[in-house]
Amino acid sequence: MSRLLVIGCGGVAQVAISKCCQNSKVFTELCIASRTKSKCDALKEKLEPKTDTVITTAKVNADSKDELVALINEYKPDAVLNVALPYQDLTIMDACLECKVDYIDTANYEPEDTDDPEWRAIYEKRCKEKGFTAYFDYSWQWAYQDRFKAAGITGLLGSGFDPGVTSVFSAYALKHYFDEIDTIDILDCNGGDHGYPFATNFNPEINLREVSANGSYWENGHWVETKPMEIKREYNFEGVGMKDMYLLHHEEIESLAKNIPGVKRIRFFMTFGQSYLTHMKCLENVGMLSTSPINFEGKEIVPIQFLKALLPDPASLGPRTVGKTNIGCIFTGRKDGKEKKVYIYNVCDHQECYKEVGSQAISYTTGVPAMIGTALVISKKWDRDGVFTVEEFDPDPFMDMLNEFGLPWKVDEDPVLVD
Ligand code: NDP
Repeated sequence: MSRLLVIGCGGVAQVAISKCCQNSKVFTELCIASRTKSKCDALKEKLEPKTDTVITTAKVNADSKDELVALINEYKPDAVLNVALPYQDLTIMDACLECKVDYIDTANYEPEDTDDPEWRAIYEKRCKEKGFTAYFDYSWQWAYQDRFKAAGITGLLGSGFDPGVTSVFSAYALKHYFDEIDTIDILDCNGGDHGYPFATNFNPEINLREVSANGSYWENGHWVETKPMEIKREYNFEGVGMKDMYLLHHEEIESLAKNIPGVKRIRFFMTFGQSYLTHMKCLENVGMLSTSPINFEGKEIVPIQFLKALLPDPASLGPRTVGKTNIGCIFTGRKDGKEKKVYIYNVCDHQECYKEVGSQAISYTTGVPAMIGTALVISKKWDRDGVFTVEEFDPDPFMDMLNEFGLPWKVDEDPVLVD
C-alpha cells in the first residue's frame, strides 16, 4: 500500500497521474493538489472509473511551505511528486524535509522573480565561478543533501525525459556499453505539428526562458558559453526526418558532468523550425519575454506571464498535434580498449499519446518518467538518503519500466555522429 501526493495538475501532471492510475498495484492511493481544485476534481472524475487507485483532491498554494506542511500532515503521503513549476521546488522540498517524506521532481529550481536582489547576488557570483548564465542550476537543490540524509529521506531530482530519461540512458550506457564515456550528445527532436502559428509544448514561461537564453556545453572540465542559437547542426531523425537543431544550455549537463567519470564533452541540441525562432525573436525584441514587472494602466504585469495568457494552453494541444518526437543520447568512448559509439533513443507519436491519455507527446514523454521515478522511490527499489539525480541509481529497473509503460527505447551501435 502506498500514498502519493502530486502537486500540480497541468500537462505533465495529467500524464504522470494517468500513468500512476495504470499502475495501481504500486500507487494504491493518490491526492492531486494545486491552487485550482476544480481542475484536480475534473481529472479525478475522468480517471476514477478506469482505475483501482483511490483518488482524492486538495487545494494548495505550493509557494507556501506552511500550506504544504498542513496538507502533508493531513494526507500523510509516502512521497510527494512535484509536477508544478520549478519556482515551487524549494518550498516543496522544505515541506518534505519537515515532514520526513520522499520528494521527486522533473525540473531544477529557478526563481520566479529574477530581479530579487538576494537571489541575484548569488546568481551573479555563480555565473562568474561556474561560467554559465542560465537562471537555473542544481546548487540550490544539492544544498539539501545533508539535511535530506539526516532526515532519512530520498530526493529524486529531474525525473522527466530531459533531464530524466536522458540521464538514465547515460547511466545505462556506462553500465552496459562502455568502460569510459568520452562524449555525450543529447538530441531532443520534436517533429510534431499543432497547426498554430506559435505555441509551446510545455509551460510557455519556463520554455521561452530556457530557449531564449545563452547556450552552453561542458568541455574538458569547464563550461563554454555561446550566444542563443549560435551553434546549429542538421540531423536525420528516425520517424521525423532531417531537422535543424540548436545547441542549448540544459540542466542535465551539470549533473552528468559530475556523475559520469572522465566525460570530456557534453552537449545538448534541440530542434526548432524557422517560424518558431522568428516568432520568438520578435517577441523578445518587443520585450514580451521579459520577467521584470512593468506598470500597465495602473496595474503591475509581467510581460512573459501576459504572453502566457495569450498563448494556447500546452495541455490543449493534444487533439491537434500530429507527428513524432525522437529524443536520445549519442555516446562515444571505449569498451575493452576498443573505440565505440552508441545511440540510445525513444521515438514517440503525438497522436498515439493522445489516444492513450489525452495529451501530446511532450507532456507524455515527461509524465511517464515522472511516474517511473516515483514508483521506484515509493517501492524502495531506489532508496538512498539524500538528494540525487536519476543517473546516480541503477538504470535497469527504470529502463524496463520505460518499455512497459509506453516509452520503448532502441539502441543503434553505428549512429551518425554530430560534428
Ligand atoms: P503547466 O503550466 O501545464 O502546469 C503547471 C501546474 O502547476 C498547474 O497545474 C498549476 O496549477 C500548478 N501550479 C503552479 N503554481 C502553483 C502553486 N503555487 N501551487 C500549486 N500548484 C501550482 O506546466 P507543465 O505541466 O507543462 O510542466 C510541469 C513541470 O514539468 C515544469 O516544472 C516543467 O519545467 C517540467 N517539465 C520537465 C520536462 C523534462 O523533460 N524534464 C519537460 C517538460 C516540462 P494551478 O494553477 O491550479 O495552481
